[in-house]
Parts: sequence; structure tokens; C-alpha cells
Amino acid sequence: MLHRIVLLTLACAATAAAQDRTMPPERERALAREIYKEMVEIKSGYTTGATTPVAEAVARRLKAAGFPAADIFVGGASPTKANLVVRYHGTGRRRPILLLAHTDVVEAKREDWNMDPYTFTEKDGYFYGRGTGDDKSQAAVWIANLIRYKREGFTPDRDIIVALTADEEGGGPYNGVAWLLKNRRELIDAELALNEDGWGESVNGTRLSNDLQVSEKYVINYRLEVRNKGGHSSLPVADNAIYHLAGALDRLGRFGFPLKPNDVTRAYFRAMANIEKGAISADLSALAAGDSAAMGRVALASTGWNATLRTTCVATELEGGHAKNALPQLAAANVNCRVLPEDAVDYVTSTLRGVFADTAVTMRIEGTPERGPASPLRADLMSAVSAVTTSLWPGVPTVPMMVMGATDGLYLRAAGIPTYGIQGFFYDRDDIRFHGRDERLKVQSFYEGQTFLYELVKRLTGAPSA
Ligand SMILES: [Zn+2]
Repeated sequence: MLHRIVLLTLACAATAAAQDRTMPPERERALAREIYKEMVEIKSGYTTGATTPVAEAVARRLKAAGFPAADIFVGGASPTKANLVVRYHGTGRRRPILLLAHTDVVEAKREDWNMDPYTFTEKDGYFYGRGTGDDKSQAAVWIANLIRYKREGFTPDRDIIVALTADEEGGGPYNGVAWLLKNRRELIDAELALNEDGWGESVNGTRLSNDLQVSEKYVINYRLEVRNKGGHSSLPVADNAIYHLAGALDRLGRFGFPLKPNDVTRAYFRAMANIEKGAISADLSALAAGDSAAMGRVALASTGWNATLRTTCVATELEGGHAKNALPQLAAANVNCRVLPEDAVDYVTSTLRGVFADTAVTMRIEGTPERGPASPLRADLMSAVSAVTTSLWPGVPTVPMMVMGATDGLYLRAAGIPTYGIQGFFYDRDDIRFHGRDERLKVQSFYEGQTFLYELVKRLTGAPSA
């Protein structure tokens, strides 16, 4: 009995110590919070706002912290869309690491929110405000940690570059990463990059996994059109633009691209097999081993898993006809595809043509699809991420992921800089509010992520393991 009490006491002491390790020192917490607040309160919505004030505010802080002006760059595609790049010099033994975050946010309207989206609010254990999740938490932590490394006199074995960039959300001509790659590549050239869109998943506060994003799907939008000479609706003919289009879309609705895991998603499903229970766990293991029947059941079990296993294409917009009493001269639709990185544009186009099976339906790609390869599952990165994850949150696995959305990682990967989404901020699976109303991040999760990224970057830059 006594023996048991001693063990329990030891266990409690170990838990308390582990919890403390996740919290940065008071001074570092205060600094990160101050930077975070400043960033959230600058209106950097990608259509109405500007990222330049964020870049300038950060540049001022870095200079005050002793970073030479020569190591700080502020500039970009337009006067309001500036990016910030700062270099913290290491010994140069290895090529640099790039730490990326975007400073623009999705627009937010006061009337849609329960509080002002551009007033940084701490309430009930959460930080609220536009960008608290996507992506100013990571931007603030990169800067706070960089200042801390300098203050602590840390000498990395490679340069640490932080780039805070414009217009990830808007895309288009002002995208900061695309602009930097084209105009100032030497500023951000690196052996690898860490970015957004990999976070910790929890359910009701219980941590399930720390996700590491290694690849992302890319987007193709197709404009479908059927044109017809039309005529009076009192004299219908079989050759009707709306019927042609509806038939093609109906066939699309019943079609599914082949299910095919890749290296990243196989690793993801293997990890999920350990997290899930029962029959689905067995199916996830079997899928990772190549069982196609199990693959079908997994795809049916969750829309997320279905989208992880295949390229998807879905009708998202429709237009047609011009009068109630006229045969339609035009019927058109947008089909939005989320494509596995290994599927080429031509493959998707020719597959869809076969599915539509109607020469009256024309297809045109809108814009230029940006496709980036998956980043290799680097052993050094995987082991660093899981070592820091396990040390902070014992028992929580690191799970490699492919995400359905697209980030700036696409541009870097396409330019030959392998990019990994990793944050260490934990979100409840059912409480992801990026781009939505009352966006928030748990106060504790923010500071834990600060510790996580502080330690992860140190490990990746030559610091002896803690
Ligand atoms: Zn984002």
C-alpha cells in the first residue's frame, strides 16, 4: 500500500514537472503576447487591409532587440503588401532553415462576430480575434522566439530566416512568397521550411496527435459550358443546353476518382490506426498495407478520409438560361477539383472529359493551377518533431498529413524548398474557426506552441537535445 502511494506521488510530481516544461518563462510569454496582440490589431484583411504595417512594426521590434538593419528586409509586390524577412546568423555549417507565416487575414465583419475581430481579446481561457489561429499566432511566436534566441546568445549551426509574408489568403499578384521567390530568392533560400497548416488535434481538450503537414492537394477550377442556338420554349428540341450540362454533372456526381494512398497518407493512416479503435482501426491498418476493400470502407467512413485517398471534383456554381420562355443558349457550371499532388492536370482533364462523355460540353481551366510536389518525409525532421512532441506531451503521436487546402508551401515546394506545416498549437477538432467568426486559440495552447516551436527550431539548428 505504501509502495503504491509512493508511486502515485512520483507520478503526480512527474506530471506537474511535464506541465511546467510546456510553459515559457514569464518574460517570454509576455513578449509573445505583446507581439501577437499588436499583429491581430493591425487590419490586414487581404482585400481591404495592408500587411505593410505588420512588417514595419516587426522590423521596429527586431531593431530594438539588436538585429542589424542589414539583416532585415521589408518590401513586396505593392506599397501596402510588404513582407518582412529577417536573418539570424548561425555558423553556416548547414544551409539555412526558413520559418514562414503569413500576415494577411481573411476579412472579418464586426456584425458577424460577438466581439470586435480586430481587438485582441482574452476571455474564458481563449485569445479571440481575426488571425489568432490563421496565422498570426505562428507569426508572433517565430518573432518572439527569434528575439529570445538572440538574447540567450544561442548560436545555431545554420542561419534561421523568418519570413512573414503577404496575401496567402488572397493569392494572386501580391502573394509574398511567390514575390520573394521571383525577386529576392537569396533572402529566403533554405534547405527546408516550416510553415502553417499542421497543428495539434484534440477532442474536448484531450490531445490526440500533433500533425505534421508534408503535402497538400492543389486546386483546379473548370468552367463547363454548353452553348446552343436556343429558340422559343413552345417548340422544344432534344438538343437543350441545360440537359446536356445536367447530364454531365449527374455523371460527375456518381463518379469517384481511384482510391490511392501515397507515402504520406499511408503514414497518416498507420498513425490513425493506433488512435482509432475497433473495426475501423483494423481497416486503417489494412488500408496502409494495401487492402483495397478496406480502402473503400475507410473512404465511406469519413468525408475527410475519402478526400485524403483520392482526387475529388465537385460542381460548385451553376448558371444558365436567359428567359422563362426561351430555350437556353447557355448553360455553365464551375467544377472545383482538389487534386492529389501525384495526379497531373492533364490526367484530371482527360478523366473528366471521359466522365462527362458529351462533346457538347466544353471545358476550360480557370487561371493557372499551382502544383507542388510532396515534401520528403525527412528522418531528421520526423525524429525532431516527435522527440519534442513526446517530451512536452508524453504519449501524443506525431502524424504526417496531407491537407486539402492549399498554402504558400506550394510555391516553396515547387521551387525546390521542402516545406512542412508544424505549429504545436492544439485545437479541438470540432472548434476550428479559421476564416470563420469568433476565431480563437486557447491561451494555454498558444504558450505551449511557443515552447514547442522554440525547442523544435533549436533541435533543427544544432542545439544539443534537451
Ligand atoms: Zn493560413
